[in-house]
Amino acid sequence: AKRHGRNNYQIYNTQIEGLSKTDLRMETLLHKAIDKKEFVLYYQPQYDATTHKISGLEALLRWNSKDLGMVSPIDFIPLAEETGMIVPIGEWVIREACNQNKEWQRQGLPPVPVSVNLSLRQFYQTDLVEKIELILKETKLDPKYLELEITETIALQPDIAIRVLNELKSIGVLIAMDDFGTGYSSLNYIRRFPIDHLKIDKAFVQGIQQDEEDRSIIATIITLGHNLSMSVIAEGVETEEQAELLKTYNCDMFQGYLFSRPVPAEMILAMFK
Ligand code: C2E
Ligand code: CA
Ligand code: CA
Ligand code: CA
Repeated sequence: AKRHGRNNYQIYNTQIEGLSKTDLRMETLLHKAIDKKEFVLYYQPQYDATTHKISGLEALLRWNSKDLGMVSPIDFIPLAEETGMIVPIGEWVIREACNQNKEWQRQGLPPVPVSVNLSLRQFYQTDLVEKIELILKETKLDPKYLELEITETIALQPDIAIRVLNELKSIGVLIAMDDFGTGYSSLNYIRRFPIDHLKIDKAFVQGIQQDEEDRSIIATIITLGHNLSMSVIAEGVETEEQAELLKTYNCDMFQGYLFSRPVPAEMILAMFK
């Protein structure tokens, strides 16, 4: 695996610290952000633990606001979710990621799936599957190169979740369960969900060296995933020691600052070399 230098793509404007999520100014600005083309996707590579090759790219949203500076998704996604703006924003994210992935394939990069994060609110939109099909058609991206990341919260309405996930699988996209192990305990449902990848939350990964309990949770998640024919990816891998330990537990894929931070699309080309 390659180690990339620490870069500064994630420095955000501190001005926004004083803004609460109910701040009207932020809401007004967020409303205009799509039209003003202020959103941008960064991409973080995921690596195969055995071959060390890039096996996927996670698209992560950034808001480059003319008025607020670079705003972290942690600071605007909750507001976007509350106001429903996440639906058009999320649709933009899917279209942009598909377009970009198709573009990389045209440039001759080895094809890998791009994954996008899906909010609960988007997941429950009745036209979600239709919209995704349309975007795949428009962008001419093969569905197997789009992955949707969902969280355990979908298990709160398991019957709807299973129906939607099956519909998504039937159009050929991949499904990843994000932040696995942190949320609503869905052990009852996980085997009924058609999931391709389990992502171990970075909170466990970061405790792996110091904390015996985190280690056993990780070992359990990996075994569970494998027993259910899912591959398992560890996120938030920051040190060689973490990667080594994860490998001894047969973790399939790695994502984290040790390998690369999320970077602008232009930088991805060089990372495949
Ligand atoms: P997430 O989906 O769990 O994404 C992983 C987060 O961990 C990203 O933060 C990523 O930059 C960060 N990360 C990656 N490697 C490391 C590492 O080694 N150490 C540490 N400490 N962090 C690492 P980011 O980009 O700030 O995104 C935060 C969250 O915002 C995401 O968490 C996701 O829940 C949400 N988000 C981002 N983009 C979108 C989007 O397009 N739509 C929706 N609905 N949510 C998004
Ligand atoms: Ca994610
Ligand atoms: Ca995650
Ligand atoms: Ca998270």
